Amino acid sequence: MNFATRAIHVGQAPDPTTGATVPPIYVTSTYTQTAPGEHRGYEYSRTHNPTRTGLQECLAALEGGQAAACFASGLAATSAIITSLLRPGESIVAYNDLYGGTFRLFERVFKPWGLQTRYTGSTDPAALIGLIDATTRLVWIETPTNPMLHLLDIQAISRGVREAERRLGMGTPAALKAIAAAPGVPPARHDGIVLVVDNTFASPALQQPIALGADLVLHSTTKYLGGHSDVVGGAVVAANQAVLDPIRFTQNAAGGVPGPFDCFLTHRGIKTLHIRMRQHCENAAAVARWALGQKAFSRVIYPGLESHPQHALAARQMSGFGGMVTCVLKDGLRAASRFMAATRLFACAESLGGVESLVNHPAIMTHASVPREIREQIGIVDGLVRLSVGIEDASDLIADLEQALRATVA
Ligand SMILES: *Cc1c(COP(=O)(O)O)cnc(C)c1O
Repeated sequence: MNFATRAIHVGQAPDPTTGATVPPIYVTSTYTQTAPGEHRGYEYSRTHNPTRTGLQECLAALEGGQAAACFASGLAATSAIITSLLRPGESIVAYNDLYGGTFRLFERVFKPWGLQTRYTGSTDPAALIGLIDATTRLVWIETPTNPMLHLLDIQAISRGVREAERRLGMGTPAALKAIAAAPGVPPARHDGIVLVVDNTFASPALQQPIALGADLVLHSTTKYLGGHSDVVGGAVVAANQAVLDPIRFTQNAAGGVPGPFDCFLTHRGIKTLHIRMRQHCENAAAVARWALGQKAFSRVIYPGLESHPQHALAARQMSGFGGMVTCVLKDGLRAASRFMAATRLFACAESLGGVESLVNHPAIMTHASVPREIREQIGIVDGLVRLSVGIEDASDLIADLEQALRATVA
């Protein structure tokens, strides 16, 4: 089955008892057993719920992975990856232009527990790979990044990770024995370095990291997958079941699971992902081209523009350039604030990826948890605004931005 067919049919078989074309939402916490331990694969809804199972099957199919696990939020999914795959004294290697909440989780929650993260600001795969040492269990990247829309070459990074594993002797019988002997480790713990790609910005409709060598794909399903700004959720999709096993263990043991209504909403959103993404890309390209002609902006960043320094990589790695456009207002914070107060269709709000257009000020809103000096290193200056271009009529969106710019300079 091709992508659109998978999006609509996987995990959505008609209900066997009634024939309901759309399977019911399984609003139950528990399942009646015919005798102790005799059941149909469902015992308790923290462990399994059919509505969640359907969503997990669909996500695995869309990303080309073997299996998926869904969580109550993107950050709950991230937490489950970290706590499942790392032990105190081990480390993460990451690119520094990360979702602000991911940075906060790494620095404020996991660092005090003995998990260090080392960051690079260079998009050169060699810079990231160069940070790997014998303690590294995880390489964490987002592409395109948030909010600077840098691209990272997933295939080159994956090759570098595999080479580093060989160089460090990971996966050898001695290494496996040491891991198995560590206290409290679930038996199926992965023995190498896991490459995680946060695919939230592109969605599987535009980019499929597993085909490019990623071990895990992370999603905030809150964004494009849900697509309607009405549900918070997260997911992990694994290239190999063995890497997901310890994460599934944590999903049940630590319990950050989504409820059945959340799973239903997310799954319902996914059915139109492919057509929504097409329109997001088309509208974002129109907005970016318009913005290029405006003197009030000192910078317009969109991977689909020929002026984007990594346009060629974006064209190779993605099947569309996405719905996010980042602009820098020449006149800094005052101009950005006035601009954002003046838009009428673009709502001033956090989040992204919904059908409605949003405008966000990363320095004050989504990335406030990133210290100022790091923000400025990354390029998140006070005049920077991030547009999540929705699927309304593109000319209405441009007219809205145009009147907001007029109000800003007036
Ligand atoms: C929103 C977001 C997250 C966090 O997901 P939540 O669902 O808000 O917990 C992670 N990564 C990216 C790129 C995001 O945009």
